[in-house]
Amino acid sequence: MGWLKKNLLLVLTISAVILGAIAGFALRPLKLSAHGISYVSFPGEMLMHMLKMMILPLIVSSLISGLAQLDAKQSGKMGSIAVTYYISTTAIAVITGIILVLTIHPGDPLIRRDIKDSGIKKQEQVQSKYPEGVNLTNDKGEKMMPQSEYINGMNVLGIIVFCTAIGISLSQLGDEAATMINFFVILDKVIMKIVMLVMWYSPLGIFCLIMGKILQIGDVVDMARMLAMYIVTVMSGLAIHALITLPLIYYIATKKNPYKFMKGMVQAWITALGTASSSATLPMTFSCLEENLGVDRRVTRFVLPVGATINMDGTALYEAVAAIFIAQMNGRDLSFGQVITVSITATLAAIGAASVPSAGLVTMLLVLTAVGLPVNDVSLIVAVDWMLDRFRTSINVLGDAIGAGIVYHYVKDDLAEHDRQALIHREQI
Ligand code: ASP
Repeated sequence: MGWLKKNLLLVLTISAVILGAIAGFALRPLKLSAHGISYVSFPGEMLMHMLKMMILPLIVSSLISGLAQLDAKQSGKMGSIAVTYYISTTAIAVITGIILVLTIHPGDPLIRRDIKDSGIKKQEQVQSKYPEGVNLTNDKGEKMMPQSEYINGMNVLGIIVFCTAIGISLSQLGDEAATMINFFVILDKVIMKIVMLVMWYSPLGIFCLIMGKILQIGDVVDMARMLAMYIVTVMSGLAIHALITLPLIYYIATKKNPYKFMKGMVQAWITALGTASSSATLPMTFSCLEENLGVDRRVTRFVLPVGATINMDGTALYEAVAAIFIAQMNGRDLSFGQVITVSITATLAAIGAASVPSAGLVTMLLVLTAVGLPVNDVSLIVAVDWMLDRFRTSINVLGDAIGAGIVYHYVKDDLAEHDRQALIHREQI
């Protein structure tokens, strides 16, 4: 009973995923209209809006307050550890994907023909009936959340660069800047309070998001059967990365139990499954790392916004697998040089992908163009992308979290020393 009370939110969230999938498949035979689906999905759309509403204030307050409380040496150290980690884990993810797709060889020109003949037609029929991103009927509810007005098309990287500059400048001003730093620290706390509320709403939202998505998509079973080996390849790559590679890196860096760390992240993981967006999951990632795993706020505030934007191991792995799969479906054997090109462009495409649903599918055009594959063939894998997107996003989030854990391990003592010095300084005044 005590256990249940402590883990109630987690239990509710996990149940939401399972029940959402069950309810979605159970309601499919009813063939609900687009209107009907929008009603069923509404609480889920509200969750997306609530999460997105907080991205901008969260990035601004967290980056500025985090950096302003660090000195230049600390932020430099954190930055270099984080960047080294991001580059190496992304590269390992790509290599894992390439090894798997070349070994399993899921692509076959025959599958391509079958999908073109049957699947796409069916998909089009269903999609025109249930258009992607069904419009909300309850417009008022949507308007309550400022998200739709300012977040769409937001240049997150630009904001990160600007906030980094403000944060570092504030940290150099010393006591003079105390009031302003305090403002951002308090704003940051306020946002996290709202995040806690949203977290308790999230099980209902996730339930509806998953159910609504299953009702919306085309002929899942048929397409999934045709693309089964492709799905298996991507999923095994993601599983290897999440269960072996990242834990091993965490263990080597910190000598601590990685699975215990991952357990503390489950809430964020599931939110990523529900939202398919690492930036929408960001509030949960902060909360899990700080509340469950005790990672210092100055670390999370600094590395997470950047990580969520550029560090996407799951996306990089998926881009490499998908591009080579498309080559295989076209009966093309890629040369060694072309495989290298795929790995480099897949890394770049993952860095460039925005942390929103299906972004990876769009930046994959870069990879396909680089090796001269037909970009239109992206349509062959679209039907199952909604699902793979969710899983790769959850690995993106895990990668960011483990990165923050590793950075924290290396700067823990410096931060403690910094606090000690600050205390002495204050007592002297
Ligand atoms: N949805 C992913 C994310 O937000 C990006 C992608 O499409 O791969 O992390």
